[in-house]
Order: sequence, then C-alpha cells, then structure tokens
Amino acid sequence: MSVLIYIDHADGQIKKSALEAISYGAALAKKLNTTAEALVLGKVSEDLASLGAYGLSTVHQASDEAFDKADAGALAKAVAATASELGATVVIFAANANGIAIAPRTAVRLKAGLVSSAVALPDTDNGFTVKKVVFSGKAFAHVKINTPVKVITLTGNSYPVEKTEGTATVAALDIHPETSKITVTGVQMVEGEVPLTEADIVVSGGRGLKGPENWNLVTDLAHALHGAIACSRPVADDGWRPHHEHVGQTGIQIAPNLYIAIGISGAIQHLGGVNRSKTIVVINKDPEAPFFKAADYGIVGDAFDVVPRLTEAIKAL
Ligand code: FAD
Repeated sequence: MSVLIYIDHADGQIKKSALEAISYGAALAKKLNTTAEALVLGKVSEDLASLGAYGLSTVHQASDEAFDKADAGALAKAVAATASELGATVVIFAANANGIAIAPRTAVRLKAGLVSSAVALPDTDNGFTVKKVVFSGKAFAHVKINTPVKVITLTGNSYPVEKTEGTATVAALDIHPETSKITVTGVQMVEGEVPLTEADIVVSGGRGLKGPENWNLVTDLAHALHGAIACSRPVADDGWRPHHEHVGQTGIQIAPNLYIAIGISGAIQHLGGVNRSKTIVVINKDPEAPFFKAADYGIVGDAFDVVPRLTEAIKAL
C-alpha cells in the first residue's frame, strides 16, 4: 500500500501545482502510515532525487516519446499500470489541464472512485472522505470514496508546498504505451507568459477598459508584478483578448495569492472563477460595483488614472 503522485511538468520543469500535489501526497502518506512515491512520465531536466525533500521515498521515471505528446490516454495507461504494480491505494494529480484529463481515465482503469478539486487532506478516521469545492467555489462537499483504490485531483493553491531535507530513490520504469485512439498532432504553448493556473499574482481586466487598445494598462501592471493576465468573459467574447485568459464560471478557475480586477463589475459568474483568491483588489470607478463586496481592498477611481500610477509606484519599489 502506498500513495502515488503524478508529477506534471512542462518544458522539462516540474510545475508548482505538482509540488503542491507531492506535499499533499506526502502528508497523506504520513497520515496513512505508508510511503509517498511519485511518477514522472517524459523528460524532466530537474534532479529527481532532490524531490525527496518534499517527502517522497521513490520517484519512478519512464521516458518514451509518446509521453511528451500530451496524449492523456497514453499517460493514463502508464499511470494506472504503475499504480497497479506498486499496489498504490491512492493516486493524486494536480487539478490542472493535464490532471483533469488524465485522472478520470486512470480512475476508470483502476476501477477507483475519483474526487476532483480536493481542497484539504482526506478525513481517514471514518472511511476516506475528501473535502472538495462545488458550485463554482460557493460551497464545499465532503465526499466519501468507498472503492479500495482512490483517485484525487488537488485544487491549485489549496495546499502549501512543504520542503525540508531528504533524497528520493530514482527508479527507471520500462513502460512503453500502446497506440492510443487519438493522435496529438501538435501543442502550441503561449510564449513568455505565466500560466494562469500556476500564477501567484493575476491582473485581470474587464469591459471598463473600453477596448483592446488600452490593454497595456493591464499588461504593464502584470509585468511589474511578474503576474499573469486574465480577463472577464465579454472581453474574450468581443475578441479583445484570447479565450484562454477568460476567468469565471465558464472560463478558467483560479486561486492566486493576489487577484487584481480592473474595470470588472463582479458579476456572480465572474466571481465563481476567482473567489478563492487569497487577496482580491478591485479598481472600479463605480462605488456600487458588486465586486467591492468580495474585495479585500478596493480603489474607487478611474482605471486610466489609478492603474498607471500604481504600476509606476510598484516599478519604483
Ligand atoms: P461590465 O459588466 O460591463 O462591467 C464593467 C465595469 O467596469 C463596471 O463595473 C464599470 O463601473 C467599470 N468601469 C467602467 N469604466 C471604468 C473606468 N474608466 N475605470 C474603472 N472602472 C470602470 N463573465 C465572466 O467574467 N466570466 C465567466 O465565466 C462568465 N460566465 C457566464 C456564464 C453565463 C451563463 C452568463 C449568463 C454570463 C457569464 N458571464 C461571465 C458574464 C457576466 O454575467 C458579466 O456579464 C461579465 O462578467 C461582465 O463583464 P465586465 O465586468 O467586464 O463588464
């Protein structure tokens, strides 16, 4: 019996959400009095033995060209085969784009119960109950998994990365996925931007910015803070910004440490994707804008006046 964590990576770098999943898995393993092991599929440039500092005993690695092609079917087959071989009773993924594609396929193969979007360690005193977010972050559900093998996806920024000291054993696995039902013909990455789901700081703009020609207000502030860029849905629908930046109930759901909303009214559908942010700052010229009710800090003012001054002040720090 062990806990197995899937390590997600991009461009050879292990993602922050994967480190959160490792810390979560290691804490769960401690609770269950077992070991935490991890699986890396594909090439990673980082030293895998150093992941022992996050509480892992062993890191298994398999390299095959198929693993670098974002084929969720092939990756799930490999994760399920490894979990069965190791006798893992809990398999953990980050709830990011890759995790939510691979986890359900893995659960089907393992005949495992799956809880997505977990936000806390399972309660293991009376069965195995996982707390998760539901209704776009407006409520929590406590879901009991009854199957012998359990699969969990962990919501980003809901569990801290815990690093101490230690070295993990690195074990090479000889897995080569069979042909999948789909062929990934290409993956196009957005150059030079912090991915929204990984970002600590997100600067977001709405219709209050009047048009795409004014978006430098958002990007300048985001770059000064080394943050990611987001937008409300109408902004993406109107073609001012690409759809992958749209946050909310029907867009990407995020939980950064700092979310700065500029010229966004704070409609319930927008809040559904951002209300788990640790600190929310709202800049809006209308003091009655609903977003102020959800804000930790609010600035009532014209974005065209406030934002450039804020950006300059941050750059001067
Ligand atoms: P507006 O509502 O037009 O608000 C603009 C704001 O800018 C106003 O508060 C105004 O006071 C302020 N403003 C104007 N000028 C300035 C200035 N110079 N300086 C400062 N502030 C200024 N929306 C999402 O964002 N994400 C979703 O996922 C989403 N899903 C939806 C799903 C459904 C089924 C439906 C029906 C709607 C959904 N919406 C979603 C749309 C949502 O209801 C709102 O219409 C939308 O969020 C409003 O976008 P906005 O705040 O940018 O624009």
